[in-house]
Amino acid sequence: MKKALIVANWKMNKNIEETLDYIKDLAPRVKNEKSDIVIAPPFTSLYSAKKELIHSNIKLAAQNSHSEDFGQYTGEISSLMLKSLGVDYVILGHSERRNYFHEDNFFINKKIKACLANGLKVILCVGEKKEEREKNITESVIKKQLLECLDGVKKDFITIAYEPIWAIGTGLTATSEEASSVHVFIRKVLNELYGDSSSIRIIYGGSVKPENAYGLMSANGIDGVLVGGASLKVNDFEKIVKFGG
Ligand code: PEP
Repeated sequence: MKKALIVANWKMNKNIEETLDYIKDLAPRVKNEKSDIVIAPPFTSLYSAKKELIHSNIKLAAQNSHSEDFGQYTGEISSLMLKSLGVDYVILGHSERRNYFHEDNFFINKKIKACLANGLKVILCVGEKKEEREKNITESVIKKQLLECLDGVKKDFITIAYEPIWAIGTGLTATSEEASSVHVFIRKVLNELYGDSSSIRIIYGGSVKPENAYGLMSANGIDGVLVGGASLKVNDFEKIVKFGG
C-alpha cells in the first residue's frame, strides 16, 4: 500500500494569526504520523505558515497558481512566486475554480506545466457533477478531464484528487464503494496514459470527516484524502490524519 496523502484545503478561511495557532496546535499532535500531511492555507498565510512548518513533518500547498511566471495578470500569483516562498504542492483544477472562475482543462494543463517546470508538486482535481452521475457519464467526464489536463505532462510529482462535485461542501459523501470504483477507473486511465502509473497517488475529496475517513481510506484504490470543511478544526483533521495509518 502507498503512503497515504492527507491534504487540508482551507479554501478562503483563516488569517495569519489563526493559521499560526492551528499549526502550533496540529504539528506536535501529528509529528509521529507516517502519512504525508499537507495543509493549503490562503495565499496570505503561506509565508508565515512556511516559517512555522519548517521543523515539522507537515508540507505546504497553495490552492491555485497562474500559468505564467510573471506579467500583466492583475491579482494573480505565479508558481515561480510560490516556489520562492517554499511551497511544496499546488492544488489545481478544483471544482470551485472551474465553476466560479471558469477555468477549463486547457488552462489547467498550462498551470500544471508551469508548476512542474518550477519544481512544485501538483494535486489535480477531477470530478463529475450530480447530473453527469445521474446520466451515467461519470467515467467519460473524468477521462476527458484527465486526458486534457495531463496532455504532455510527465507523471512525476502528480497526484490526482477525485472529488465528485455533488459531494463537495454538501455533507453528501460518495460511499467507499462509489469512490473506489471511480478510483479504479482513474487508475486504468492513468495506466493507459503512462504505462505504469503506480507513482501517482489517487486521493478522494468530498465531505470527508472523521466518521467516514477510515472507510474511505481503506477502500481499494484510495491513497488518501483531500479535506475541506473538516480540516478547519484541528481535532477533526488530527483524527483524519491518524486514520491514514
Ligand atoms: C474540497 O475543498 O476539496 C473539499 C473536498 O471540501 P469538503 O471536504 O468541505 O467537501
